Amino acid sequence: TEACLSEIEGAGALNAFVHNTPDLAREQAKAADARLRDGEAPAMCGLPIGIKDLFCTKDVPSQAGSRILQGFLPQYESTVSQKLLDAGAVTLGKLNMDEFAMGSSNETSVYGNAVNPWRRGNDDAALTPGGSSGGSAAAVAADLCLAATGTDTGGSIRQPAAFTGTVGIKPTYGRCSRWGIIAFASSLDQAGPMTKSVRDAAIMLGAMAGHDPRDSTSADLAVPDFEAALTGDIRGKKIGIPREYHMDGMPEEIEKLWSEGADMLRDAGAEIVDISLPHTKYALPTYYVLAPAEASSNLARYDGVRYGHRAKLEQGDGITEMYEKTRAEGFGHEVQRRVMVGTYVLSAGFYDAYYNRARRVRTLIKQDFENVFAEGIDSILTPATPSAAFALGEMKDTDPVAMYLNDVFTVTVNLAGLPGIALPTGQSAQGLPLGLQLIGRPWEEAALLSSAYALE
Ligand code: GLN
Repeated sequence: TEACLSEIEGAGALNAFVHNTPDLAREQAKAADARLRDGEAPAMCGLPIGIKDLFCTKDVPSQAGSRILQGFLPQYESTVSQKLLDAGAVTLGKLNMDEFAMGSSNETSVYGNAVNPWRRGNDDAALTPGGSSGGSAAAVAADLCLAATGTDTGGSIRQPAAFTGTVGIKPTYGRCSRWGIIAFASSLDQAGPMTKSVRDAAIMLGAMAGHDPRDSTSADLAVPDFEAALTGDIRGKKIGIPREYHMDGMPEEIEKLWSEGADMLRDAGAEIVDISLPHTKYALPTYYVLAPAEASSNLARYDGVRYGHRAKLEQGDGITEMYEKTRAEGFGHEVQRRVMVGTYVLSAGFYDAYYNRARRVRTLIKQDFENVFAEGIDSILTPATPSAAFALGEMKDTDPVAMYLNDVFTVTVNLAGLPGIALPTGQSAQGLPLGLQLIGRPWEEAALLSSAYALE
């Protein structure tokens, strides 16, 4: 804990931690020592970790990277962070993120972006750690903590993991409780661990997962011993390579990474099978209708009355002006864009044309996966991202759709509710980490982690 606290102090330039809790961490570390002395050894005992700013942490600022939650001190702890504390973890502080988890580069954060500890060759341009869990990824990659929590609505654990050479798993929807996690798109959001290795991810996921009566979508299923399942034995497993993921204009080095990953799995005894997921091309537009729709509804609660920031009012301003001014000041541009898109696709005149149609396409995307799993496919191998980490500022004010393309390989997994893991398996020509993604059958994170272990 002391080593991490001093690393954090020296790494201000990474802007990964946005709120430090050293006193709390020292207290928790002492309690962990006492538990060890008493012969208890819970899974995370004494391990210093960071918590994404999207998790409500009791009496510790929780702003979701937004101005509108300035000054918000939750009176309760999210289920997932509480479970980690119960398992003996030491929490060092809160980690930077895109505002309300909307973004792929960390540049929508009210705190300013976190920075990727990696550099391209001799080029000293600062790179994005990815988003939205960019602070978590940067902190783990730079050894500021041993692991961190992330959340993933469309790729926010897996894309930053791929950009920083770390491991990130988005579990099956319902595996981890969403209670106390500030909501973005409730039918897609899941928490998961961001770690240095597949083994660490298995241990931490075990501590985070489990049924919670306070989240009606959390599954009442036993949590397997993920670490014990890490045999790495994949002999006889059928691993699918979806042909629709060969996108036009995909860099040569990503194609190569992907085929080398398939070779490695084949050498370890798996059968590599060409598969088709025909509705893949509709995933990104479907996600960018459904996620904003749900976000516009979830974000309606930030009205200047119940939480955080309230705009200064003038004589004669009524409640409407209070809402308008507060929300105009409190939300950044990307969040405002999502609220507008979401409100539009949910409006009476367009609901059927956009929202309902997207829901139907979502079902088709889910059925694509069900069909290949029914044919005996155990897991699916794809790239995690279409490129290595890009320079900060490069995409910021361009066409937002260019930024959304970062999520092309990850959103299908959220739409279908499946588990997906990203792990580093190679390097770009400029020496940056590159990651692959393995997608698993629902509730089979144990098998998925074990296959990832074979690829690590
Ligand atoms: N980049 C995606 C978005 O902006 C995914 C974000 C996420 O998974 N939270 O919506």
